[in-house]
Amino acid sequence: MSSPDTEPKSLYQKREPIFPRRVSGAFRNLKWWLMAFTLGVYYITPWIRWDRGPSLPDQAVLIDMANRRFFFFMIEIWPHEFYFVAGLLIMAGLGLFLFTSAAGRVWCGYACPQTVWTDLFILVERWVEGDRNARLRLHRSKWNGEKIRKTAVKWSAWLLIAVATGGAWVFYFTDAPTLAVNLVSGQAHPVAYITILVLTATTFFFGGFFREQICIYACPWPRIQAAMIDEDTLTINYRHWRGEPRGKLQKGEVVADQGDCIDCMACVNVCPMGIDIRDGQQMACITCGLCIDACNDVMDRIGKPRDLIGYMALTDEVAEIAGKEPKSVWKHVFRARTIMYTTLWSAVGIGLVVALFMRSDIDVNVTPVRNPTFVTLSDGAIRNTYDVRLLNKLGQDEVFHLSLTADAPMRISLEGTQELSVTVKANEQKTQRVYIVAEPGSAAATADRTDLRLWIEQNGSTNRVYHDTIFNGKGK
Ligand code: SF4
Ligand code: SF4
Repeated sequence: MSSPDTEPKSLYQKREPIFPRRVSGAFRNLKWWLMAFTLGVYYITPWIRWDRGPSLPDQAVLIDMANRRFFFFMIEIWPHEFYFVAGLLIMAGLGLFLFTSAAGRVWCGYACPQTVWTDLFILVERWVEGDRNARLRLHRSKWNGEKIRKTAVKWSAWLLIAVATGGAWVFYFTDAPTLAVNLVSGQAHPVAYITILVLTATTFFFGGFFREQICIYACPWPRIQAAMIDEDTLTINYRHWRGEPRGKLQKGEVVADQGDCIDCMACVNVCPMGIDIRDGQQMACITCGLCIDACNDVMDRIGKPRDLIGYMALTDEVAEIAGKEPKSVWKHVFRARTIMYTTLWSAVGIGLVVALFMRSDIDVNVTPVRNPTFVTLSDGAIRNTYDVRLLNKLGQDEVFHLSLTADAPMRISLEGTQELSVTVKANEQKTQRVYIVAEPGSAAATADRTDLRLWIEQNGSTNRVYHDTIFNGKGK
């Protein structure tokens, strides 16, 4: 016979739904503003137009997969310039390290899409079903007309937001107004419908049902962030040395030897992660600051100093417990680690800006044909063959002239034309076969190799680029 203690326990813990209470205060306001900003940027950006001339798309931000290009306002990134994307990703990573080492999980608490959309879904839920207590009552009640009606309204609103979210994403990949018409008329590519369907489903379930579970169980960031946090990082903490021993307090009542915490549970009831910050720092805490707002409100009402819960570093905790003055916020923010991240971030940023302004509108690549490395013509001249790839980023069809400079005299000709020029269509590339010949007995013909420089000049302009290569002679 097995006793209750020896019976195997399930490893699965059933989720207890969380019904965060409405709260107001500085951090809640900051979150509202950031929510409006991030959602606004996400939904509106694909609709911003940017004139690039007749042969290029006029969408300000466009990931043009078909032509393998990325447009960002006046910047155009070609596939061979992928280092710009890599640089931006490195900057994003360093930025995340910087903010995390300075103020903990601020990304999670304020700007992460999971947090922002969950916040939006909770806002809708509150509009439809009421605040925490009303939602709790509705959740525990049996299914009846009111519960069915409210649930239907809430899910419909969530679905609308989810469709808008999935829809906005596909607009980043093709001309938004055209795609909108095609989507409505059923003529869009199946990939667009499938993408919208997948993103609608993930938004609906992640924001409506999975919520804090994504942060706790699915996201790797809470596990990684510990490496970026040290004793000087500002995180959200409960001043237990001030709050304990906690105890209920009636209005106007004064209890000797009691801490400032009146155990009102306001900090727990507003927490979107359903945790009690008074138990100490926890991995589930996304540092959203809502418990600070809730507790400050309570402290104001009972006439106690604010910041029983607040941003503080481990060193502050030690100092405050010892009765010493904690460091100023600026000393926590500007320290060796954050300065190093800022320096690295700025260096990558400056490097990208310099590379952006230094890049040419003409891109050229020269590949010598190596099989054979040279041929001897009937008159004894030596000929080398090259494939010259020209990329025209000028936004209109252009004629480019080819010429060469070298230590020894040589002549150049192009396959298929008597001219020394080639036309490349706007925003396209063309590969032109080029021959370079050294006269019989000349220095280049009799040398093993001669350095040469191929010049490509835009017709009617001083815009020109070069590419260095070598000429193979037959040697002595
Ligand atoms: S809100 Fe403040 S006073 Fe109320 S339980 Fe939380 S820490 Fe204690
Ligand atoms: S404990 Fe406070 S800061 Fe952490 S998630 Fe909950 S409300 Fe946000």
